[in-house]
Amino acid sequence: MQRVALVTGGSRGIGRGIAIALDQAGYKVAANYRSNEEAAASLAAETGVATYAWDVADYDACQKGVEQVAADLGPVEVLVNNAGISPDKFMHKMAPDVWRKVIDTNLNAAFNMTHQVIKPMRDAGFGRVINVASLSAFAPNYGETAYGAAKGAMVSFTKALAKESATKGVTVNAIAPGYIDTDMIRVAPQEFLDDLVENHILVGRLGRVEDVARCVLFLAADDADFITGATIDVNGGQVMR
Ligand code: NDP
Repeated sequence: MQRVALVTGGSRGIGRGIAIALDQAGYKVAANYRSNEEAAASLAAETGVATYAWDVADYDACQKGVEQVAADLGPVEVLVNNAGISPDKFMHKMAPDVWRKVIDTNLNAAFNMTHQVIKPMRDAGFGRVINVASLSAFAPNYGETAYGAAKGAMVSFTKALAKESATKGVTVNAIAPGYIDTDMIRVAPQEFLDDLVENHILVGRLGRVEDVARCVLFLAADDADFITGATIDVNGGQVMR
């Protein structure tokens, strides 16, 4: 059976890696993105993965988007809440609208998206919700009051929904990546990244999108049904909880 998987922020970075891995594993994949048409077109051309533009911070847009994916590919059986932003700023310099945008895009989006699929998953007796959190959920860096708060809350969201869903064949798990080599971290100064690799990431390299994608495949599988409410760290040994 070809299951249907929807990856938010699936056109670039980690989400793209996840979409490609799911596609290669035989899933019918929908990749959502916000506005970068070029990245989405390149993914579609390379893989044939269906791409859909909407803002995950917008509840109504999520409703319409998920309806469209279901009409095109079938009901979503695997949801990967991956889209996120990290415009880091010290609290004393952060405008209220930046705080709200970070919470809306990283946390409220998980509700906006999961709310569309959770009832059909329960009714079908199968579902996988996989939330891409962050090492910052547990060890936030300077400038990450909003981002760390959103990712920490995402882990609690994961546990609470896992409890509600356990008897219905629906598992809910999180992945907490460390520093993965994508556009998101390439805004950081090179000296900062060099110091991370030399002194903090024990395996001695930045993460690759494939390092995260393999966890998604593992958690999405039908026989991963005894794993729920968990958070898998993918950080090269940088932080051990
Ligand atoms: P990138 O910036 O490389 O890619 C972000 C993706 O999310 C793009 O596809 C982007 O679409 C999409 N996106 C952003 N905002 C929205 C929105 N409002 N609605 C829909 N899509 C949106 O990020 P990464 O791949 O690095 O990060 C992916 C996830 O992993 C995020 O949740 C991030 O917090 C988390 N993470 C990343 C780490 C890292 O080191 N890279 C470490 C820990 C966690 P578009 O191209 O159209 O803008």
